[in-house]
Amino acid sequence: MTTTDKDLFFDIHPDTYSQWAAQNGLPKYCLEQVSDWITKHHCLSFDDMTNISKKNRSILADRLRLNPFTSVTNQKASDGLATKYIFTLDSGVCIEAVALQERGYETLCVSSQAGCPVDCKFCLTGISGLKRNLTVSEIVGQLAIVLANNHHITHIVFMGMGEPLLNLKAVLPAMDWFQEPWGFHISRRHITVSTSGYEPGIDYLIKNNRYLNLAFSVGSAIPSIRETIMPIEKRYPITQLSLKLRQYSSQHNRKLTLEYTLLATVNDTDLCADQLIQLARFLNAKVNLINLNPHPMIPFEPVSHKHLMRFRQRLVMGGVQTTIRHPKGQDIVAACGQLQLTAVADTPISRQPK
Ligand code: SAH
Ligand code: SF4
Repeated sequence: MTTTDKDLFFDIHPDTYSQWAAQNGLPKYCLEQVSDWITKHHCLSFDDMTNISKKNRSILADRLRLNPFTSVTNQKASDGLATKYIFTLDSGVCIEAVALQERGYETLCVSSQAGCPVDCKFCLTGISGLKRNLTVSEIVGQLAIVLANNHHITHIVFMGMGEPLLNLKAVLPAMDWFQEPWGFHISRRHITVSTSGYEPGIDYLIKNNRYLNLAFSVGSAIPSIRETIMPIEKRYPITQLSLKLRQYSSQHNRKLTLEYTLLATVNDTDLCADQLIQLARFLNAKVNLINLNPHPMIPFEPVSHKHLMRFRQRLVMGGVQTTIRHPKGQDIVAACGQLQLTAVADTPISRQPK
């Protein structure tokens, strides 16, 4: 069989393992063994799956593909704390994930789309436009490969490339792989999905009573400013969206996180802080401040350290729990919002959410 004819392992649901095994002349527990090797022992090579007979390993290798990418490279930042992984898709387009080490835990920032159609003006991924949605295998494969490279991932954030709520069809099954006992069994509280506010996605989660640890990227709590930096505001206004977010967080009784990327002279005034306080109080949310990761292709500047502290202080004085996310891995362009399509096979298909 050629590589592309093979079935991709993470696209097979555990409920259908025995059926797949029977169709391929294998014992019915065989895929459970493969799954165990991958999710519990972080092994991605059939050769090393020693409790499976040689004959069955060779059938598996012939029919099944564990790595959905055509190539994988990685690069460590000079601070040693961030490692960027670049995965090449079948089409030749590259996507990225970043492993970030912090005291006592390690977070993997995964991509949900190749590029992004939302077009936020401060985001490098947005500049690339959307190439396509990632498949379940391509999302789960990012974690499986990073684990096989001896990282000890304890947390996952969907803060790499793409707007996860625009690809729930693959993101939700990938979440199952990440959190279920038959998968990687990472606590669902340790998996965060960050969204720019794609309202139909939030509607879907509400209707289906599906819990995700959600972070909302505010940009600005003032609609007239928000629409200049996040065009999604024109389609799904924050006034309407905040009602939905409130409904969602009360449905699950969990605190929402508001991410706020600071852009000098754009969304950093006292009035901006006060509006953010209002929003955070309305949503009973905490705030995570991110100073802009600058890049020559982004037409904005970060705020000074002093200003960042002042902004935070104002939020805290307003009764809002506030943390600051410090950038890591800037020298390898691995920090948030700095993930960019590195190989472009054809022109972007869309820059606006459908
Ligand atoms: N599409 C999702 C998740 C990926 S972006 C979202 O927008 O939420 C992850 C986070 O990085 C978002 O909070 C986004 O606002 C932030 N971000 C984007 N570009 C950035 C930049 N250049 N500097 C700092 N943060 C950035
Ligand atoms: Fe897309 Fe998020 Fe970047 Fe906006 S910030 S363009 S939604 S990846």
